[in-house]
Amino acid sequence: MFQTNMVGHLWDLVDEGLDSVLDCLQGRIGVTGVCTPVTSGPVRQLRYAAEVSPRIFQTRGGVFFQPDKTLYENTRCKPLLSEWLRTRNPLNRLSQTCRERGLELRAVVECVSLGRIAAHDPHFARKNVFGDVSPSQICLANTDVAEFIRALTVDVCTNYAIDAVELTGLDAMTPRTDDPHHDPGLGARQLLALCFCESCRQSAANAGVDVEAAARSTVVRLNTVFQTGQRIEPPLVALAGDDPPLTAFISWYRDRIAELLSSIRHACGCRVVSHTRPLGGEEEVATDAGYTRGADAVVCDYVGRETSDLKCLLERMGGMLAHQQRLEVQLSVTPPTGDDHQALVRNLTTVAESGIASANLDHYGRLPTACVDLVRQAVRFARRTSR
Ligand SMILES: [Zn+2]
Repeated sequence: MFQTNMVGHLWDLVDEGLDSVLDCLQGRIGVTGVCTPVTSGPVRQLRYAAEVSPRIFQTRGGVFFQPDKTLYENTRCKPLLSEWLRTRNPLNRLSQTCRERGLELRAVVECVSLGRIAAHDPHFARKNVFGDVSPSQICLANTDVAEFIRALTVDVCTNYAIDAVELTGLDAMTPRTDDPHHDPGLGARQLLALCFCESCRQSAANAGVDVEAAARSTVVRLNTVFQTGQRIEPPLVALAGDDPPLTAFISWYRDRIAELLSSIRHACGCRVVSHTRPLGGEEEVATDAGYTRGADAVVCDYVGRETSDLKCLLERMGGMLAHQQRLEVQLSVTPPTGDDHQALVRNLTTVAESGIASANLDHYGRLPTACVDLVRQAVRFARRTSR
């Protein structure tokens, strides 16, 4: 059966009342599962539900469940709780209630922008080629960080009734930078996002990569942007084709991500799903990206990418996965332009027609009451189409 999971933040479910939200999701809309973020970076969220307080929810981020401290003894990187949680542990009741109701529950782990860890301990932070330490992102190639993420997934999967863990932020060359207001082009953003922290430099050099040459090449390319003002649009994999040290460095990093993914899969015993935000350019999609290797399924995150053709995107993404891997999709539950109310019905039908069997809807806290019936219609159409 076609699976539909509603993304629901714990604060939205708790403040509105868990049972009444799940009654709406399961009884009225007909979703088959819930995805709940168990870690995140800073959040400022305007909430749509009636009479919730605060109207704008804010947290500096962190971990949204009480961690089992014994699982983090092998890493110096420790979980930092979101201040919102205090001594409560709503993930416990959510997981039990979903199990009783026959709803699938997925735990979403944001792996890179994870609360205050980078600011709290810069030793674990990403560092760009110029030596700037990220205030918000941690380096997944750091062995302490990798062990921390592994322990975190084991924690949620063994201590709660979780059916799948969804990992976000694993893209080896994330196009995100710490300056969201300036866009020097996709390739330049990816060059800036490459981590040259001490841990990365040392491990890559030990693996035989000429890190100094890769760093020099990165600096030269970025300095050209700064001097000429010309953006670098092609994705990094296309740029690095004629640059063996840079290619080797990227490939080394991707291998670390693939290793992390496979260690999580072996350790946590439930389905492992990796998120990706598709970028521009055929090359990016076609390459053997570390964040897909070893995952049971890959979620193509279409939220914010609504200008690209969904059908083409799904075909390209499907082509890059291994035979046994499933492709899934994440769609915005509200119309991206505000007035195209049939967008969700159309997109979810396209997903089902493409032979995809699972979609996440993002997210319950931004679902206007007036759109509930439309979402139910979209879910029903998709289920009928997929038969
Ligand atoms: Zn690093």
